[in-house]
Amino acid sequence: MCGTCGCSEESGGTRITMLREDGEADHGHPHPHPHEHPHPHPHPGVQPDVAVETVTIEQRVLAKNDLLAERNRTWMTERGVVAVNMMSSPGADKTTLLERTITDLAGRRPVAVVEGDQETRLDADRIGRTGCAVVQVNTGAGCHLDAEMMRDALTALSPAQGSPLMVENVGNLVRPALFDLGERAKAVIISVTEGTDKPLKYPYMFAAADLILINKADLLPYVDFDVEQCTRHARSVNPDVRVLTVSATTGEGLSHWYDWLAAQR
Ligand code: MG
Repeated sequence: MCGTCGCSEESGGTRITMLREDGEADHGHPHPHPHEHPHPHPHPGVQPDVAVETVTIEQRVLAKNDLLAERNRTWMTERGVVAVNMMSSPGADKTTLLERTITDLAGRRPVAVVEGDQETRLDADRIGRTGCAVVQVNTGAGCHLDAEMMRDALTALSPAQGSPLMVENVGNLVRPALFDLGERAKAVIISVTEGTDKPLKYPYMFAAADLILINKADLLPYVDFDVEQCTRHARSVNPDVRVLTVSATTGEGLSHWYDWLAAQR
């Protein structure tokens, strides 16, 4: 098990579940590849040559991922599919934001969704109730989506020409930052119930972001969260990043999010 994120390669294995129009799950083809999880950090007691070897494996894993991500990007570009990789801690209300986004954009373009979670199809079921096409990827013991999972999800989903494709990554701020899926843009969501210092604690994630959404703005009167300070922290690791304050519950600020989504086309 990895000491940085608890991600393990020993158990699990990825499952892709396509939600059919009748609401039933279609598990499609099995996905037998083992989750590759190298350890980029030397562990106590590990010999230096072993540490070097694990770093090399990590580089190979990321290089293979980047290659597959480029293929995904080409595949989506040819079909006019614009994917946004949405990443956050658990509980930032990504799924609620997605539900609201799909509902508010209904009638403009059919949105397709890839849902990533370690287990369950709860979020895909929620998204499926909005009527949009959705596929659930369960990563088992893995803590992030990768380009191979994205490729399989795209195959299962077969998004319509010109679809916006929303990808809800597995909730954590560490590994998802490293794995390109072939998306057009990365949006990082932080909620006002979290610490203002998250951008400093997880700089790789916030540096990778094209957009930062500060969600649950409706709760600002009740919590100790400084939007200006969080924005300053975010810009200290990503100087030009766009930051929007929104509430998926009340709709506050969402028009700017929709404008940003439209501009990704
Ligand atoms: Mg969710």
